[in-house]
Amino acid sequence: MAGKMKAVVKTEPGYGAKLVEVDIPKIGPSQVLIKVTSTSICGTDLHIYAWDKWAESVIKTPQILGHEVAGEVVEIGAQVSKVKLGDFVSAETHIPCGHCYQCETGKQHVCNTMKILGVHVDGVFADYAVIEAVDIWLNDPAITPEFASVQEPLGNAIDTIYAGNVAGKNVLISGAGPIGLLAVGVAKVFGATKIIVSEPNSYRRDIARKMGADAVVDPTQEDLGYVVKHCTGGIGVDFVAEMSGHPVALNQSLKTICTGGSMAMLGFPADKVSIDLTNDVILKEITLIGITGRKMFKTWHIAKRLLKEKRLDLTPAITHQLPLEDFDQGMALMKSGNCAKIILKP
Ligand SMILES: [Zn+2]
Ligand SMILES: [Zn+2]
Repeated sequence: MAGKMKAVVKTEPGYGAKLVEVDIPKIGPSQVLIKVTSTSICGTDLHIYAWDKWAESVIKTPQILGHEVAGEVVEIGAQVSKVKLGDFVSAETHIPCGHCYQCETGKQHVCNTMKILGVHVDGVFADYAVIEAVDIWLNDPAITPEFASVQEPLGNAIDTIYAGNVAGKNVLISGAGPIGLLAVGVAKVFGATKIIVSEPNSYRRDIARKMGADAVVDPTQEDLGYVVKHCTGGIGVDFVAEMSGHPVALNQSLKTICTGGSMAMLGFPADKVSIDLTNDVILKEITLIGITGRKMFKTWHIAKRLLKEKRLDLTPAITHQLPLEDFDQGMALMKSGNCAKIILKP
């Protein structure tokens, strides 16, 4: 498709991004062009926008930001049979190589040479975006474009909570950022008995309640261990979803788990973390589980069912909807913490 489009581009190293006019991208034989109808801002986008050390080490400018998306198929590469013109789609953001050990043993989401949409290749904060056929995901028409674009982080939440086998269990969600908030809803729908959320930001604690939390705690003001004991009849939680990546939160959370329990960790600490392995893990027989991204495509199937059947309502976790042009405002909101998922619409 010839022509121009608007896009949010990191034009040069440093803080911020610019809304610029660029050519509508051309697709290769294994790719699909979509017209973007809804996108959402991820923490990754903020890292790139703010240009932290990680961004500096991976991003090559110019680079179109964004990876969470819903849109319509407008052009299809010669080798692609998965979708047809006009289909309502979203995109997985892991771009796997397809032939490394991980890819060949059913773990494409942790491919050894994985690329990421909006990080290593141009992203979706634009009128149009190129998606690899392997990553295209056909949405159910019953799902709104806003919810459809949030399926990617919802998949992170699903993967994390799934690891805890939470039905009938007491669960602590440590950190109620956007994915932590989605995880509250997932834990509820997966049948957790009691969901306790630990989060210093009161705006986010309020949303956690709306997403189904039974108790919310400000760990900087209250004794998390005491609250967990009180809520669980003195036993402790069976499972922690560690979404904060904060070393203090991680240590506090470990101590709230009952003997024989488990913790899945999605939030990653910026530096090495010290934990009391002997007392908090080994002697308590705690299972620690690392979570990266989403299973391709198990978590997408679960997300689709939950949203299509209206078993999970994401409304409280979508706090802002802005035109794409207002991405600076969206990034400022993300930085303030007084938001959950922010939708941008081209
Ligand atoms: Zn994301
Ligand atoms: Zn691979």
